Amino acid sequence: MVGACARCLVLQSLAALAAVGAERISKYCVVGAGPAGIQLGHFLKNASLDYVTFERQPQAAAWFRKFPIHRKLISINRRNTRSTNAEFNLRHDWNSLLDVPIPRFTNWTEDYFPSADVLADYLQAAADLQGESILYNHSVQRIRRSHLAASTGQSSLFEVSVQAPTGLLIWKCAVVIAAVGLWQAHVPENWIRGMEHTIGYEELAPWPGAAAFDRLSVLILGNGNGAFETSDAVRNFAAARVKDAPTICHRYIHMAFGFSILAEMLPPTYWRDSGRGDANCWNLRPIELTGGRYILHPSTGLQSVTETWYPLLPWQQRPEQGKEAGRPGLPPACSRLLTDRRTTLAEENAFDTELQGFRGRPPVCALPDNSKKEFLLADHDPENPAVQEALARWAEHIHVRNGSAVYRSHFKKALKQLGKQAKHAVPGIDDVIAGRTQVLTINKSVARRLAKESAEFRSALPALMASTQGLYVEHDRFRKPFDVVIRALGWRMEPEPFQELNVQLDADRKYPEVDACFESTEPGLYFAGTVTHGFDKKRFGSAGGFIHGFRYTAKTLFRCLMHQFEGRPFWHDSQHHYDWPGTGAEATACEVGQEPAATGTKSIQRLRRSLETTPHWNRLLTRLNEASGPYQMSCGALVDGLVYDRQQLRVTYYQDIPMDLFEAEFRQYPRLYFQFRYGKSSYLQRSDFLRTRLVAHKSSFLHPVLFYLQLGSAAGGSPYII
Ligand SMILES: Cc1cc2nc3c(=O)[nH]c(=O)nc-3n(C[C@H](O)[C@H](O)[C@H](O)COP(=O)(O)OP(=O)(O)OC[C@H]3O[C@@H](n4cnc5c(N)ncnc54)[C@H](O)[C@@H]3O)c2cc1C
Repeated sequence: MVGACARCLVLQSLAALAAVGAERISKYCVVGAGPAGIQLGHFLKNASLDYVTFERQPQAAAWFRKFPIHRKLISINRRNTRSTNAEFNLRHDWNSLLDVPIPRFTNWTEDYFPSADVLADYLQAAADLQGESILYNHSVQRIRRSHLAASTGQSSLFEVSVQAPTGLLIWKCAVVIAAVGLWQAHVPENWIRGMEHTIGYEELAPWPGAAAFDRLSVLILGNGNGAFETSDAVRNFAAARVKDAPTICHRYIHMAFGFSILAEMLPPTYWRDSGRGDANCWNLRPIELTGGRYILHPSTGLQSVTETWYPLLPWQQRPEQGKEAGRPGLPPACSRLLTDRRTTLAEENAFDTELQGFRGRPPVCALPDNSKKEFLLADHDPENPAVQEALARWAEHIHVRNGSAVYRSHFKKALKQLGKQAKHAVPGIDDVIAGRTQVLTINKSVARRLAKESAEFRSALPALMASTQGLYVEHDRFRKPFDVVIRALGWRMEPEPFQELNVQLDADRKYPEVDACFESTEPGLYFAGTVTHGFDKKRFGSAGGFIHGFRYTAKTLFRCLMHQFEGRPFWHDSQHHYDWPGTGAEATACEVGQEPAATGTKSIQRLRRSLETTPHWNRLLTRLNEASGPYQMSCGALVDGLVYDRQQLRVTYYQDIPMDLFEAEFRQYPRLYFQFRYGKSSYLQRSDFLRTRLVAHKSSFLHPVLFYLQLGSAAGGSPYII
């Protein structure tokens, strides 16, 4: 971090700009009027600073006007906490902004999981207080270093190109704060082939209505909130008619996960893994429906695709409206299933009409394998050219085996349930049941290697896999065709405005790299809001991706700006000074700064007892019980810290400060800080419920942990946990 006001020279550069006649100048330019931009605007406005906010949409909080598409927030709105303490109540009010003079969000709705519309209204009301400082319909196209700044040697001036209703504007800004959110859908390149046949979660906004999925089989890719809320929304329609449907394709909703989860195939969940962005209880009902590890419900499925390929391919071209469904390019197995599922032409036409709701995309086949060591590649149909070619090309790798007993018995069961209709749908079924059919298999690791190395093998796969009878064997839920495959695989920051700057992204290319003040790798360019979650998500597991987290990180950023650009003291508005030693008792017991190991456990206890009588300790205890910032930005993302200055005989208490900044600034002092941490044990273990004073440290839920560090020692070392 730059020292006190090393960057105040920027002011001179602004004056120079004014002198050369540049018309549009703001010291602070905020990009985006989502909750983060609005929050930061309020801090800047309350400090009477010169700022402007550009918002490309005609209104604020545009994200919440559109998403989540099913309009139910996952942020809780606990109105009644049995406490009147405003700070404490913020632990359970996840939607209100800080320091905004309108009633808190808890007054806007009674719903515990509120509607996103109400939140958007609340945020708009907060934005309206900033008046003309927010420029709507102003889209930032590109940010680059100002030529003037380069020529005068100033490093923190930017030229921002803004597309406004009146035309393109060039705005000069000393500091740019990008609160742009994550608006680019994440479409993985090396995961499932055929992504182009899927429909993005983002394309479902505006939501066509769950009824649009009536009787359609739906595959949902993803294991986050978007995937789960979609599954929850379509369940009533897609799954409800399972029993009535004259079909052997009776697994209607599937969720496929993009990465290894746990053996039991559950996604990361809020209740278990404590990451705020993980799927939360509201959205987790689909897991209940599947019975978690054991798939109890026959019509839904959760499956990890880590070990398996699911190439997606269209199985029906869109027929022209009113004409009989033509099916060029339809794999044979899917063709039979289509015949089976839609028994009359009228039904097929109705089905086609339903598909209009999905923007005319063809239904999709997802074709995986299911055996333990080998992929089931294809039926051994000697007349199938794909099979002939594969056997000729990869003879040493492909095995011809008898159709397995499992394969046969499951098909027998399906027939028993569905009767003759299904039998007609699958010619050759008698041979399958009698064990007269053969299949092609390939060792999984060999197949993976070939898929990696050989383009021919990759392109041969869909035709081969499509050639199987379309039967399913145990846990093979994906061999059936799906009418709709929805991709809900997360979001990324749009990189376009920053392309001329040195903005480095994290390994997943999702979040920009930032430091503890949220400054990017381009000096003078800061980030705010959900886009800063990369800083805290993996390292601290805290809530920086959500309003209840980034309202505090926005404040951190503001305090850094005040220090770096306004010449205000470090953490100017959130430090409290106390005399030291207060009572004098600690001086006889154990001087702060002395190794506790040298003084013995009793001395530490005496130290602690004496500390408990001091005013600064009182503040500490009060904060332990009510602080909301370190509670939401847990595990060190934000801490409260005490610095013992033995020269000045002074103790300074710092509130809501990132552990990194506290350590960088005060390493030369003996210091104490607390953070909220989760316990080691699982949430499901009994210790979670132990809340007495004696066993509080065993709690698996968030509880305060105090660290005392000696002069010069590092936080990463071995602090004494008091
Ligand atoms: C399925 C799902 C559910 C979620 N539910 C919740 C929830 O319940 N509670 C919660 O707190 N969070 C939730 N989130 C996270 C949510 O996205 C963020 O909390 C919130 O939208 C982030 O606020 P922000 O201000 O950082 O970004 P955004 O809300 O995305 O705001 C960014 C703003 O910047 C504007 N903008 C972007 N680029 C430019 C540009 N170049 N020029 C001008 N303007 C620009 C955009 O129009 C937008 O208005 C959820 C996320 C997902 C995926």
